[in-house]
Amino acid sequence: MGVTDHQPPKGVDDTVPHSARVYDYFLGGRDHYQVDIEAAHRLKAIWPGLPTGMEVNRSFVHRVARWAVTEGGVRQFIDIGTGLPTSPNLHEVAQQADPSARVLYVDNDPLVLVHAQAVLTSSAQDQIAYILADARDPDAILQHPDLGNTLDLTEPVCLCIIGMLHFIHDDAHDVVRRLLEPLPAGSLLVTTIVTADFDPDRLTRIAEEYTNLGMPMLVRNKDEVTAFFEDMDLVDPGVVPAHRWKPIAGAPPVADDEVAVYAAVGRKR
Ligand code: SAH
Repeated sequence: MGVTDHQPPKGVDDTVPHSARVYDYFLGGRDHYQVDIEAAHRLKAIWPGLPTGMEVNRSFVHRVARWAVTEGGVRQFIDIGTGLPTSPNLHEVAQQADPSARVLYVDNDPLVLVHAQAVLTSSAQDQIAYILADARDPDAILQHPDLGNTLDLTEPVCLCIIGMLHFIHDDAHDVVRRLLEPLPAGSLLVTTIVTADFDPDRLTRIAEEYTNLGMPMLVRNKDEVTAFFEDMDLVDPGVVPAHRWKPIAGAPPVADDEVAVYAAVGRKR
């Protein structure tokens, strides 16, 4: 798979860049095509901090998965917009903290599913599942048989929508509300969202360039991010740049405008 392959898998278009593959490229993965590398370079030319922002986002995924199991009171996850498998994946972090942890992975990119097969065969089969679905159709996720086969909705669930809501525009708040609806009290919502609050000029241009490249992106300010947690209790420290969310002691310092991603966790009442 990747740049040397001539024939992309069914349903995968290697003539236009894709957000999952551009992210994979910046994280040092192998599952991207030439078109994604070119897009990545155009984006990085506008905002040299982009790879740092992505790495910070990915380390937040690891931190929050561990926290959710050890302190957040959950051992089940729905991870929507999970991206191409990148070790360690969310279930590996969660299962290290609690081997009984379960994860339903969701993405609308067929390439993610192709690579997910390899992860599935190396894992306890009934504890994780991958489904191809679009977040904008919450019922397709909530009514998918693999959800019921993998998770127990009478117990709290951690709904992760990380690094993805900036690709959902008008109806994003409604989508999140509908996804949270069937989850019991004590469930968590975890998100990170790109913001232009710290470097308005560059981040506005980044969103425009993603959009020009065929990946329509919408940046959100702090109030718009906070609105996703309406009627929930925000977990400390609230809505903050991702590297400031319960940082690990000794983590290398980064500037807020280099990260440009808000992270937050809320608990359902
Ligand atoms: N959550 C991961 C990956 C983020 S990359 C992380 O933070 O490390 C964004 C992912 O969202 C990509 O894999 C892309 O395919 C997926 N995505 C974008 N729009 C989506 C949608 N409408 N429904 C489901 N997945 C989507």
